[in-house]
Amino acid sequence: MDIPEDLLRRLDVPGPRYTSYPTADRFVEAFGADEYAQALRQRAAGAVVGGQPPLSLYVHIPFCESVCYYCACNKVITRHHERAREYLDALRTEIQLHTQLLGRGKPVSQLHLGGGSPTFLSDEELSGLMAVLNDEFRIVPGAEISIEVDPRTASPARLAHLAGLGFNRISFGVQDFDAAVQKAVHRVQSFESVRDLIAAARELHYESINADLIYGLPKQTPESFARTIAQVAELRPDRIALYAYAHLPDRFKPQRRIDAADLPPPEHRLRMLGGAIAGFIGHGYTYIGMDHFALPGDALAAAKRQGRLHRNFQGYSTQPDCDLIGLGVSAIGRMGATYSQNAKTLPEYYDALARGVFPVARGLALTRDDIVRRAVIMAIMCQGRVEFESVEIAHLIDMREYFAAELEALKPLAEAGLVEVGDRSIQVTATGWFFVRGVAMVFDRHLRAAQVRQRFSRII
Ligand code: SF4
Repeated sequence: MDIPEDLLRRLDVPGPRYTSYPTADRFVEAFGADEYAQALRQRAAGAVVGGQPPLSLYVHIPFCESVCYYCACNKVITRHHERAREYLDALRTEIQLHTQLLGRGKPVSQLHLGGGSPTFLSDEELSGLMAVLNDEFRIVPGAEISIEVDPRTASPARLAHLAGLGFNRISFGVQDFDAAVQKAVHRVQSFESVRDLIAAARELHYESINADLIYGLPKQTPESFARTIAQVAELRPDRIALYAYAHLPDRFKPQRRIDAADLPPPEHRLRMLGGAIAGFIGHGYTYIGMDHFALPGDALAAAKRQGRLHRNFQGYSTQPDCDLIGLGVSAIGRMGATYSQNAKTLPEYYDALARGVFPVARGLALTRDDIVRRAVIMAIMCQGRVEFESVEIAHLIDMREYFAAELEALKPLAEAGLVEVGDRSIQVTATGWFFVRGVAMVFDRHLRAAQVRQRFSRII
């Protein structure tokens, strides 16, 4: 499958991934611990009145033993494993602050451990953390329990331990198998080690195995990346996430150690992206949307076929939208019509918990307009279709009137064959799926306001 070059060019630009709407850069400090506690109380009151869907939990483990130069995550680089103890104590306090308000034993249908490197923790520490979570919440049968694994800190025995703790989904950070690229980003891991781990995960019956890749890294060439794609396809992970590297050394310190002269030129990036899409589809993968691929038998591909995809902070998901508690430094949560993010540094995070308050540093209470737009943006990102009637009934608006400017702004995209705008619906076309974020961006009020501001400041 060949994607036209102009479309690839549109795809290969930084922009919101819409794991939330409004996006996290809109969160404000005026939303803090008190507002978050209020949102939790409201959920607790709602549970008494009518019951609610189960919770989703995200736990952030920030530690890594060594730094990958491309990294843009919130992490703490240390070889001092004893630092995990203080962190796990703080996490327990944070978990208990939640259950004091929500009540203990609330059902959880989704749990994700991310980082940093969750596998920085020892087997005993991971067992301890799961014991606390199981004590304070009730993880329901069939829950999705997933973990990000750095292959350099894992072994088949570790994967067996994780399976014993209930983990049923696993995600490996692969990025690229080429030796020169691995050296240039300071992350060396052999193809053989990843192959053995994936084989072990399969034997342990993990329901879904994911591999993360990055294109646009230093020393990558279209030819070297094509070899990595072929190697990854040979390993047959159920899901593949393909991310674009954005070189922002002013914002992310580790990236200063990357020599800009080693970065692939834009035309090579485009060939890598086009080659990856064509390669994975050619190897039988389904393009889910944005940066995700899945084998046809995987639950994500089935959800895409059946129009049941959802999107949360981890990307595409099969689970319906539910309240998400973000635990740990910098973690983001969603509670009712609010979003919140924890403090980004360990001292701030520890300090709040020592005072017995939620370590929330910023967040947002959504307006009615945010909620309508979120529904439209998520329908575009997940189903590729917006039925006007369902939005009108759910939000008591007239779509054509409310979104008159946006429907007008869709016209060039319709002329380019990316969307079809009818009287009662918007349909993203098969080609448009590769540009679905660009369609969603039309409905992002904050982004449009920023664009207008930018244009205005350029004029003056
Ligand atoms: S990329 Fe992942 S493993 Fe590497 S430093 Fe960043 S958080 Fe740690």
